[in-house]
Amino acid sequence: MLKEDLLYKLIYEITSVFESSNSASELVLGLKQVFRGIGAVDIVIYTYDEITKNLKNFIKPWENLLNNIEAEKLNLIYNSLIKEPKTLIKKEDKLYIPLYKQRKINGILSVEGKLSKEINEEIVPLLSRQISLAISHIKYLENANNNTKFYETIRNITKLTETQYDLSYILPIMGEMIDGFISEHLIYIFLKKTSKKEYKLIWPKKCSITNINDYLLEIKDNSVITKDEGKTCIFPLYEEGKITGAIVAYNPVDSLNKNEIKYLEQLTVQASITVNRAKEYMKVLENATLDALTGLNNRHMFHQRLKETTSNAKRQKTDLCCIMTDIDFFKSVNDTYGHSVGDLVLKTVAKTIKKELREYDIASRYGGEEFAILLPNTPIDEAYKVAQRLRSKIEKKKINIEEYKIEGTKEISVTISIGVAKFNDKIMKDPEDLYILADKGLYIAKESGRNRVVIP
Ligand code: GH3
Ligand code: MG
Ligand code: MG
Repeated sequence: MLKEDLLYKLIYEITSVFESSNSASELVLGLKQVFRGIGAVDIVIYTYDEITKNLKNFIKPWENLLNNIEAEKLNLIYNSLIKEPKTLIKKEDKLYIPLYKQRKINGILSVEGKLSKEINEEIVPLLSRQISLAISHIKYLENANNNTKFYETIRNITKLTETQYDLSYILPIMGEMIDGFISEHLIYIFLKKTSKKEYKLIWPKKCSITNINDYLLEIKDNSVITKDEGKTCIFPLYEEGKITGAIVAYNPVDSLNKNEIKYLEQLTVQASITVNRAKEYMKVLENATLDALTGLNNRHMFHQRLKETTSNAKRQKTDLCCIMTDIDFFKSVNDTYGHSVGDLVLKTVAKTIKKELREYDIASRYGGEEFAILLPNTPIDEAYKVAQRLRSKIEKKKINIEEYKIEGTKEISVTISIGVAKFNDKIMKDPEDLYILADKGLYIAKESGRNRVVIP
């Protein structure tokens, strides 16, 4: 092929790769293909990391190149290129081409294999500049995406307390949000026990950092504590001069970089505000009877009404039934469409339940996505019918989520599983036994396939 034709073809192919790449790995994958077309076996891109003062694999920056022979060789080549710029360095079976950022060398392209002989010292600098530009562009793009994601996470954490106050619900959701943002690190949330100088892991269920309890005891104020050469970082949750807990980030392989620490510091400030606000609300709500999100009775009220209705049923010898219901795969609604959509689903299910019941039936939100219903003066076959009607209504209900602007989804629907039980004062000595039996039915309904009603 003529030199000009080859050059044209190469530049065309590389430009196509740049245009279609949205991430570092897409870019490198595309470049590998182009280089294979001109004789290379493989390529690797290394960029210089200003923070750790080391070369890092562009697509696997968390991998440490420190301690192997290849890394030493690379650093030697990099340093020699800085001292005495060259178009390329040939060593053994590899080619090393400098990469630039604002005219300064800041990386190396290593090429394995023999390039076609047309790729001469005139063409290589052209390739090098083009690839350098694409790398800067991708870095800029990833940075911008990160910033957008960061503000979204902050906003979502802030929004948590718009409808939710219960820390046992808020904290796991918050943990998942932060974990989703800093995806290369494990995130843990600890709360400090009010009475003792002790921390309790709230999310997730297990923590794999060996000395974490000792580390947490070192918290004195709200400054970040770094341990294990930066692999473990502790961000204290803080409230008016008092420590309330900590968010911990951990990566078994690499340390957190300056940017991640900066992001996490700010996320922790927002998390502190959210936790404190939830605590305040909870204090106010201690005397409340209604659930703030759905307007149904809250759990506390359910137990109250359970006592009253069972004692009435016993005294007046009337039928009483209890329905326990739980939304199926609700976690995946949150995971797929976000928590605001999850909240809308909860409100819609609550509304449907209310609409389907009689005036004197008692509906409560028992917890997250669980509802409990008491049906006074209702025999079990009637309660079963009510439950089936509820199940079918919810299954058919289309929930409009257009306002959340989720691509490709205008409406969603969910199903519920239901357990139904009848009060029997001969065997149920404690009012709670009625609820426990209905819950057993719900458990069987889940186990046997969901979206069904079971009388245990
Ligand atoms: P199953 O069919 O077995 O019930 O699966 P599931 O996913 O519904 O059950 P799981 O208990 O695993 O998940 C319940 C989820 O409900 C987890 C929690 O984050 C979410 N959740 C609890 N309370 C709220 C809330 O008030 N709002 C929102 N959006 N989500 C909540
Ligand atoms: Mg569920
Ligand atoms: Mg549940």
